[in-house]
Amino acid sequence: MATKIDYYAVLEVSRDANGDEIKRAYRKLAMKYHPDRNPGDTDAENRFKEINEAYDVLKDDQKRAAYDRFGHAAFEGGGPGAGGFDFGGGGLGDIFEQMFGDMMGGRRGGRRSGADLQVQVTITFAEAFSGVKKKITVPTRVTCESCDGTGSADKDAKPETCPSCHGAGKVRAQQGFFFVERPCPTCHGSGHLIRNPCKECHGTGTVEKNRTIEVAIPAGVEDGTRIRISGEGESGGKGVPAGDLYVHVSVEQHAIFQRDGANIYCRVPVRMAQAALGTEIEVPVVDGSRTKVKIPAGTQTGEHFRLRGKGFSVLRSSARGDMYIQVVVETPRHLTKRQRELLEEFEGDAAGHAKGSPESTGFFSKVKDFFEGKL
Ligand SMILES: [Zn+2]
Ligand SMILES: [Zn+2]
Repeated sequence: MATKIDYYAVLEVSRDANGDEIKRAYRKLAMKYHPDRNPGDTDAENRFKEINEAYDVLKDDQKRAAYDRFGHAAFEGGGPGAGGFDFGGGGLGDIFEQMFGDMMGGRRGGRRSGADLQVQVTITFAEAFSGVKKKITVPTRVTCESCDGTGSADKDAKPETCPSCHGAGKVRAQQGFFFVERPCPTCHGSGHLIRNPCKECHGTGTVEKNRTIEVAIPAGVEDGTRIRISGEGESGGKGVPAGDLYVHVSVEQHAIFQRDGANIYCRVPVRMAQAALGTEIEVPVVDGSRTKVKIPAGTQTGEHFRLRGKGFSVLRSSARGDMYIQVVVETPRHLTKRQRELLEEFEGDAAGHAKGSPESTGFFSKVKDFFEGKL
């Protein structure tokens, strides 16, 4: 038997690659080496077969585990080496059902379906706040209209049952004392033969097409959220349900608002004298409105003021987060002569007025304790 290349190496993925990474790698390579794109190139054809074989094993958790444990021996005649399978209970038939049952296409809840699709969509901070409908274009395979998905150029021709597998789509071959089941090489697993393949879809029954889908992104969505849209993935071909579409949502950062869960934070500068005397400031809200916030006399830098219910919606709930205004007291620069005089006069007065500086009072009494060895 010819030496086989490691399945992970075939798909150019690491041994700890997850299901999505394996699927992506498979799609990329399968596109590149597909026989339709490389007519008459035997190397590409062999590579394509290898890629499919590797993917059949690595996409299935059970088969992958068997492969990780036994290598290619898990799927070859002569059976696994030391260690072996546990043949108790179900018998050979069940084991092969488990190991090779899913040779074609994805499965969900035990039924076959078209492949799932992944798309990325980026929305603004404000769109995440209010919710938004986005039109997205999805490259996908849809049922070929030219042949109604039959794959045959002659629509009325009854599909012939494949003579190799008698319509089963898979063949069993004896290798050593094992029976190995694999997709029928004559009909590629479909179970029937097309004498006169459709020119649009090359007999596959599906064609690639861009579809535009409107996706409702709910208010309150967070960066990195994945939305599943059932049945909007790739067509599964005739009689097989379509896969699902997964929309990965990225949310852009905002110049003045930050987010933490459902709460929104906004840093607002307040002039030194305003903070000391107290004032009312106008602050922006994410929805584009404005609201007034009372800043009491003696507000310190870093103090928060809560605007209840002005935060993000909480998904799948009627709750809302809050918005927090975080005050930053600004020290004036480039003083005029008059300002300088006033501040000098103010400072002369402030020095003898300890209660007026709550931070300093606490701090300097601790400094005194520190030098006296009490701290
Ligand atoms: Zn067949
Ligand atoms: Zn067609």
